[in-house]
Amino acid sequence: MRQEAQAKTCPKCRLINPPEAERCDCGWDFVENCQRRSYLSTSTMAPAAAGIGGGIIVLIILLKVIFALVRAYGP
Ligand SMILES: [Zn+2]
Repeated sequence: MRQEAQAKTCPKCRLINPPEAERCDCGWDFVENCQRRSYLSTSTMAPAAAGIGGGIIVLIILLKVIFALVRAYGP
């Protein structure tokens, strides 16, 4: 019977996990040795939301610039 009570070092983020850990904080699966989505991440929608929000902000700035131009060069 082999002793497996060694800390697991994540091959992806180098985080040292407890021997009983099945998955790293970054989502690395020690059982299947493959990358999984991190279950600690609660912000899976954040990039998309930030992208939409950033797009709206850029759109507002563009509209303001266009309005300023129209006022400057308009009648
Ligand atoms: Zn990791």
